Amino acid sequence: MIGSLHSGGLITNYQCSASCRHCLYRSGPSRDKSYMGEETLRNLLRKGAGLGCLSYHIGGGEPFLNRRGLYRVLEIMAEEGIGLDYLETNASWYGDRESAVAVLDELASRGCGTLMISVCPFHNEFIPLSKMEGVIEACQSRGMGYFVWQEQYYRHLAALDREIPHSFEEMSDIWGSDYLLRTGKRFGLTMNGRALETFRAYLPHRRAEEILRENPDPCVELEGTDHFHFDLYGNYIPPGCTGLQVYWQDLGGELPREAYPHYLMLREEGIGGLYPYALARGYENPERGYVSKCDLCESIRRFLLETTPAPPFRDLGPLEYYTGT
Ligand code: SF4
Repeated sequence: MIGSLHSGGLITNYQCSASCRHCLYRSGPSRDKSYMGEETLRNLLRKGAGLGCLSYHIGGGEPFLNRRGLYRVLEIMAEEGIGLDYLETNASWYGDRESAVAVLDELASRGCGTLMISVCPFHNEFIPLSKMEGVIEACQSRGMGYFVWQEQYYRHLAALDREIPHSFEEMSDIWGSDYLLRTGKRFGLTMNGRALETFRAYLPHRRAEEILRENPDPCVELEGTDHFHFDLYGNYIPPGCTGLQVYWQDLGGELPREAYPHYLMLREEGIGGLYPYALARGYENPERGYVSKCDLCESIRRFLLETTPAPPFRDLGPLEYYTGT
């Protein structure tokens, strides 16, 4: 049972103007354009408040892709008496100082006091530093609070042409062939989602049996409620375990086993519970092996979705997380 919630985030949309190699949610331009709707948001905020969460950060995807939708989200949060911790952005929306300031004024009038501006090599593959700096300057000029995520990369990126994006291939030519790997290590990544695909090639692979021996316990990660997210489809996303979800109406009570078989298996027995269940359904280990229990977990979940037409369960999703690029 997920009986209380702390420190949450709202995923207003999964679509993004970037497709970063480290993205836990596999956001990108090809994802669903839908945006957090009013009824869903009120349901989520009221459910969250009942379980103890009274403020959220907003992220995505890129929340600014639907400016009107974003303003409405802020208005509803204020109407519901829910606080905003900060609003994340990759700054791709920046055009010029005047229009950026106008956007910040709209945000401020709806209770937004702090922006989190993504500045890192992953984002710089898609968005020039000049746009990130433009948003920073606009914040400074209007007294809008902001912080840069992550400050440590600024010096590197500032040494390149600020007006264009730069690929990791280009950065590796300058700073060494292991620059991607070093960046990943310093970032403090959660190794799931697209990050897993990106860094799998650099990590040691082991057989499933070895992974199971090393991870005999239930997945406590599913119990954590710090830095959880609610998405636009009305689902609770546990911190770090992307691709698993709980519908908002099912929070706060015992989860029905027919709807959440895999979630409950992982929470009660860990990967050691999910693995034999999958083998019994025809799952076969890939030749490559696995880099972690989460790698094995995601491979199994992908198989279960692919081989279960009209699934009776609702704990694996959103579907685009598994089918998208
Ligand atoms: S094995 Fe699965 S449920 Fe467990 S922590 Fe990893 S992704 Fe989450």
